Amino acid sequence: MTERSLHSITENLARIRYNIAEAAQRCGRNPAEIRLMAVTKTVPVPLVNHAVANGVDLLGENRAQEMLEKYEGYHLDGVDLHFIGHLQTNKVKQVVGKVSMIHSVDRLGLAEEISRQSEKLGITTKVLMEVNIGGEISKSGVMPREVELIARQIAQLKAIKLCGLMAIPPICNKKAQIEGYFSQMQALTVDIKAKKIDNITMEFLSMGMSDDYIHAIPYGTNILRLGSAIFGARS
Ligand SMILES: *Cc1c(COP(=O)(O)O)cnc(C)c1O
Repeated sequence: MTERSLHSITENLARIRYNIAEAAQRCGRNPAEIRLMAVTKTVPVPLVNHAVANGVDLLGENRAQEMLEKYEGYHLDGVDLHFIGHLQTNKVKQVVGKVSMIHSVDRLGLAEEISRQSEKLGITTKVLMEVNIGGEISKSGVMPREVELIARQIAQLKAIKLCGLMAIPPICNKKAQIEGYFSQMQALTVDIKAKKIDNITMEFLSMGMSDDYIHAIPYGTNILRLGSAIFGARS
């Protein structure tokens, strides 16, 4: 860790916050309702803590093992920890109880296990459903046409609360194309919310990463998940 990398994190955060505020203003949104998550994969603990010292109050973890190794070192006072990575069913018990939300629920079986482990701890775990908005064979996530069905099934589970949707859209080089995916995610959110299903709040829409966060802002995102834009390219 060098002075230089610490300084660049401070600068990056200032620039990102400025960009968020400007994009929000352009579309008539209040920037205060958009949370900035720092995605910590591969980032050493002192750099994560530097982001926290610079006002980051939400961290995103991708891997259960890496989270367990780094967790004790994080300054988590006033900071929320969310799990955002692909989660194997047998790793659920390592994660439940340590994070306040899991963004990557991509199948009913995973939701069932999260509920089961949460019940054991006497807690309710908040989750988002990951949507495969590009319909890509190689990617995890619930296909858009199945979102409502799976949402209704998750809503039946006892110790889990479905709070919204998350997406990692396909890599796009055209603004109109990425905006199309963000717009579809917003439409899905509005659609499910309108059905007023018990035990589903749809209060969060988690989308927008380092390369595209500006374009997600007009489409209702309220959790931006940023890694490299804050910490620099991953080695
Ligand atoms: C790595 C990761 C991010 C952040 O990616 P960047 O392009 O570095 O901003 C966001 N969401 C998920 C699920 C990730 O795995």
